[in-house]
Amino acid sequence: MHTLISALLAELRSEGVTLLGGTRAESVARTADGWRVSAGSEAYDAGLLVVAVEGPAAVGLLTDALPDLASRRPEPGPDVSLVTLVVDLPQLDARPRGTGVLVAPQSPGIQAKALTHATAKWGWLADQAGPGTHVVRLSYGRGDARHGAHAHPEPRTDAELFEAALKDASTLLSVPVTAGDIVDWDVVRWGGALPFASLGHRGRVAEVRSICAADGTLALVGGWLSGNGLAAIVADTPKQVRQLLS
Ligand SMILES: Cc1cc2nc3c(=O)[nH]c(=O)nc-3n(C[C@H](O)[C@H](O)[C@H](O)COP(=O)(O)OP(=O)(O)OC[C@H]3O[C@@H](n4cnc5c(N)ncnc54)[C@H](O)[C@@H]3O)c2cc1C
Repeated sequence: MHTLISALLAELRSEGVTLLGGTRAESVARTADGWRVSAGSEAYDAGLLVVAVEGPAAVGLLTDALPDLASRRPEPGPDVSLVTLVVDLPQLDARPRGTGVLVAPQSPGIQAKALTHATAKWGWLADQAGPGTHVVRLSYGRGDARHGAHAHPEPRTDAELFEAALKDASTLLSVPVTAGDIVDWDVVRWGGALPFASLGHRGRVAEVRSICAADGTLALVGGWLSGNGLAAIVADTPKQVRQLLS
């Protein structure tokens, strides 16, 4: 997966595309010829605009230009935190849970929603880690009370997440994982990730698409419209962009 991003960046650069990493679009406005995107002290003009940010951000950027979008703003998805543990634990060579587990929301005493035994999943990582050393990744953040998430308050700070990861890894792997086994660890947070379909979603998507089609110079793409996951997004995005170019 990480090689895909490098390959995509290389292809875009070879096609002469200008990429502005770490640059936040602050506003989007109509101009006589199309659109102006402002970021910091810079402004970028274009005849056609593809907005590929998550749903709440996309609606926030475009509401001044397209007030009809305001009522189609989706709920933000849950905040997801990934805790990666690198452990010296030869007992894990036996891959006690295969490549990992998904945790049912009602599972008593477990806060994680998934565990990936990364060195069991990817041979290249196992080769780099070496014998007896393992990489285990735990995922936190269901954010959905309907699925019982409120039954267990979610860990938030790095320290809370680390403690929860040790406890949950021990339970899920049936191998005690203690602070003394840790070679290194890290937390990565994904804010508002994982868009989901609330009631009336399909109708709202159709309305957003029809607002874009009526405009003729704008496409909105991403998981909040196509359905979450790369397969859905990669299938949908070229269709939306082709319509813009036709
Ligand atoms: C932990 C995790 C694991 C996942 N694993 C998988 C998996 O294995 N397979 C799979 O298919 N899917 C997976 N997904 C889901 C997948 O990542 C999403 O479906 C996909 O990334 C959504 O793509 P998107 O383009 O809609 O939005 P995003 O990938 O969220 O991209 C939107 C981007 O817009 C940026 N942005 C927001 N506001 C602005 C602004 N004002 N200016 C500029 N940029 C802005 C954001 O920083 C972000 O980079 C996973 C998601 C998470 C959180």
